Amino acid sequence: MNLILLGAPGAGKGTQAELLMEKLSIPGISTGNMLREAMRNGTPVGEKAKYYMDNGLLVPDDVIMDIVAERVAQPDCVNGFILDGVPRTLAQAEALEARGVRIDHVVSIEIDDAVIEGRMTGRRVCGKCGASYHIVANPPKVENVCDLCGSELVTRKDDAPETVRKRLEVYHAQTEVLKDFYAKRGKLRTVEGNQTIEGANEDILKAIGAKA
Ligand code: ADP
Ligand code: ADP
Ligand code: ZN
Repeated sequence: MNLILLGAPGAGKGTQAELLMEKLSIPGISTGNMLREAMRNGTPVGEKAKYYMDNGLLVPDDVIMDIVAERVAQPDCVNGFILDGVPRTLAQAEALEARGVRIDHVVSIEIDDAVIEGRMTGRRVCGKCGASYHIVANPPKVENVCDLCGSELVTRKDDAPETVRKRLEVYHAQTEVLKDFYAKRGKLRTVEGNQTIEGANEDILKAIGAKA
C-alpha cells in the first residue's frame, strides 16, 4: 500500500501518518522531518533547506527528490509507505511518476484556513523523532515529553503566525493543484480534516479500503 497524504500545513498529515504507520505496519516518510533532522545534523541538505524552511517557502524540487528517491528504495518500504508532505509541487509529482514510484491512494485532508492558526500555535513536536502533539487536542502523556521516544518537545520556528500565513499561501499556489493531478489518475480520496483525530483516521482507513 503506497500512500500520499496531501493537505495544508496543520491539516493533520503528520498526526495521521503516525496512526497509519502503526495500523498498516508501513513506514511514514516525512520530508519535513527529514529536512529538520538534516538541519540539526548540519548536513549539506540541511544547509540548503534552512533558508526556505525558515521563511515558509518550498525547498527546491531537486533536493527533495534526491532524499525521497533514496528513502523509498530502502528495504523497509517493500510492503508500502506513507508519503507525508511530499509531493508538494507538480514537478515533484511528475518526478515520482517518471521514477516509476507507484502510488495507490492520495488522501487529501481537507481543512479551512481559518482553523489552521490555532492548530499551529498549539503544536509541539518531538525534537528527536518528529512526532506531532497539540497542547489541547493531542497532549503528550507527560508535559513536554514525547510519548514515543522520551525526548523533549519543541515549538517549530516556522509555526509562528506570519510564517504559517506564508506557508498557506504557498500551499494554495503550488500544492493544491496536485488534487487535480491525482483526481485525473483516479487516485484522489478526500477526507474531512476538521473533526477529531480518531474520526479523521477512520475516514482515511475507509477511503483507502483498509476498513469496512
Ligand atoms: P507541514 O506538515 O506543517 O506542512 P512540513 O514539516 O511538511 O510542514 O514542512 C515544513 C517545511 O519543510 C516546508 O515549509 C518546506 O520548507 C519544507 N518541505 C517539506 N516537504 C517539502 C517538499 N516536499 N517540497 C518542498 N519543501 C518541503
Ligand atoms: P501537518 O503534518 O499536516 O502539518 P500535524 O499532524 O502536525 O499537521 O497537526 C497540526 C497540529 O494540529 C498538531 O498540533 C496536531 O496535534 C493538531 N491536530 C492534528 N489533527 C487534529 C484534529 N483532527 N483536531 C485537532 N487538532 C489536530
Ligand atoms: Zn519522539
